[in-house]
Amino acid sequence: MRHKTLSRLPAGGGGSNVALLSGRSGSHLRYLSTRGEEAALAFDDVLLAGLARDGGLYVPQTWPRFSSAEWRVLRGRPYHEIAFAVLKPYVGGVITDADLARLTREAYAVFTHPAVAPLKQLDANLWTMELFHGPTLAFKDYALQLVGRLFDHVLAKRGTRVTIVGATSGDTGPAGIAAVVGSKNIDIVMLHPRGRTSEVQRRQMTTVLAPNVHNVALDGTFDDCQDAVKAMFGDLEFRDRYSLSAVNSINWARVAAQIVYYVHAALALGAPDRTVSFCVPTGNFGNVLAADAARRMGLPIERLIVATNRNDIVARTILTGTMALEGVAPTMSPSMDIQVSSNFERLVFELAGRAGRATAAMMAEFRKEGRFKFPQGLHGALAEGFGAGACGEAETLATIASVRKATGETIDPHTAVAVHVAKRAKSEAPIVVASTAHPAKFPDAVEKATGERPKLPAFLADLYDRPERATDLPNDVAKLKEFVAAHARGA
Ligand SMILES: *Cc1c(COP(=O)(O)O)cnc(C)c1O
Repeated sequence: MRHKTLSRLPAGGGGSNVALLSGRSGSHLRYLSTRGEEAALAFDDVLLAGLARDGGLYVPQTWPRFSSAEWRVLRGRPYHEIAFAVLKPYVGGVITDADLARLTREAYAVFTHPAVAPLKQLDANLWTMELFHGPTLAFKDYALQLVGRLFDHVLAKRGTRVTIVGATSGDTGPAGIAAVVGSKNIDIVMLHPRGRTSEVQRRQMTTVLAPNVHNVALDGTFDDCQDAVKAMFGDLEFRDRYSLSAVNSINWARVAAQIVYYVHAALALGAPDRTVSFCVPTGNFGNVLAADAARRMGLPIERLIVATNRNDIVARTILTGTMALEGVAPTMSPSMDIQVSSNFERLVFELAGRAGRATAAMMAEFRKEGRFKFPQGLHGALAEGFGAGACGEAETLATIASVRKATGETIDPHTAVAVHVAKRAKSEAPIVVASTAHPAKFPDAVEKATGERPKLPAFLADLYDRPERATDLPNDVAKLKEFVAAHARGA
C-alpha cells in the first residue's frame, strides 16, 4: 500500500543522537473524527474523550514520518526511550518532553522482563514478540500502563477527576484496573459477565481491593455488559455529570502506545535496513491497526497478516471484500470472539481517502444491513496492505503442541492462532508473531494441548488465595447507573 507523505520532518541535526531523539518540534498534531463532524482536538482531549461525539473514532490529522536516520538512532535503545521518541509527535506538545520521558520510563519499569517485549525465534524465518511481561500477563498492559499514567498526569494538571466505565470479556478489565489502581483522580467501574470469564481473569480484577476500583459481576453476557456501558455513555447528561471516560481499544492513546513494540521489534531485526512482516491475532483490530500506523510512519514492513480464530469476519473481509456479520462462537481464544471490530473504521477511513462522510455512510450501511461490499478499488487497497487467515479450534491445539515439541516454548491459544496463520503466509522478510498472552492465563487449553498445566509467574502465585470483592448486579441500566453514581467521585 502506498501512503501519502503528509508531513516531511527535517532530517535531524548533524548525527547527534540527542538531537535526533528530542529535536522534533512539538508540531501541535491534532486529531480528526473518522465521521468528519467534529472539530480537531489535541492529544489530551482525545485521551479523555475516547469516542468522538459524532460516533466516530479519533485519528491523527497527519501521520508523523521518521527518516531512515531517525529509525537508526533508536536501534538498541531501551524500550522506554523508543516509546518516548515514537509518541512525542503524537502528543503534539501538550505534555512536556521531561514529563513524557518520565511517564514512559515509569510505565515500562513495571514490566518483569528487562527487554520489556523480547523476541524469541521459533523457526528460520519466524519469531514471536512476547507481549505478556506486564502486571496482568496480556498485551493490553503495554498500552494501558502508559495510558493510566497519561490520564493521571492530565487530570492532575487540570484539577479534575474522571470515572472510567468499561465492560470486559477478559483481558481489558484486569489491565485497565492495574493501570489506574490507587489513582487519586480516577474511579473505575468494570463490568464483567458473571461466571463467563476465566477464573484467572476474574481474580485479576476482583482481588484488587483499592478504594477506587469497583467490579460489577453482571447477570448477563459480555454483550449485555457492553450494551449497558454504551447506554450510560449515550446518556450525555449522565456522561457529563459523572465525567465518564473509557479505556477500551477505541481510545487513540492505546493505539499510539501499541506502535512502540512494532518499532522495537523491527529495529531489533535490522530495520530500517531490513524489512519485517508481522502476524497479529486480531479481535477488535486495535493491535494490528497500530502495526499499520507504524508502517504509515515509514517503518519498512513487508506484510501485515491478520489472524483470526473461527470468528473470522475480519479475515473474510480482507479476502473477499465483503464485511458480513455472523454469530459469535465461543473459542479457546476468547479475547478474539468478536462480531464487529470497532477499530476497523479507522482503516476504512484511510482507505476511503480520509473522507469522513463516505466512512460514516459505509459504516451506517453495514450497521443497518449486517453486511457491506467494499467498492473494488477500496478492496484492492485493503488486500494489498493486509494478508489474512483463520485458525480453527483443533488447529489451535495442534499448533500449541507442535511449537512445544519443536522448540520447547509454550504459547497461549491466541498466539497459536497467529503462528498457524503465519506458517501459511507468504513473506520474504522474517515474520514476527505478536504473542498476546501468557500461557498461564489460559491453562485449560494449554494443558489439553501439552499435557502440562502452565504455572503463573511468582508475583501472581498466590492469586487463588487472595480475597475477592465484586458487586452482583442485574442486567438493568437504571441499577447500574445508581451504582456508578454512588461510586463516582468525579461528579
Ligand atoms: C485483546 C486481545 C486480542 C485482540 O486484540 P485486538 O486489539 O482486539 O485485535 C488478542 N489476544 C489477546 C490475548 C487479547 O487480550
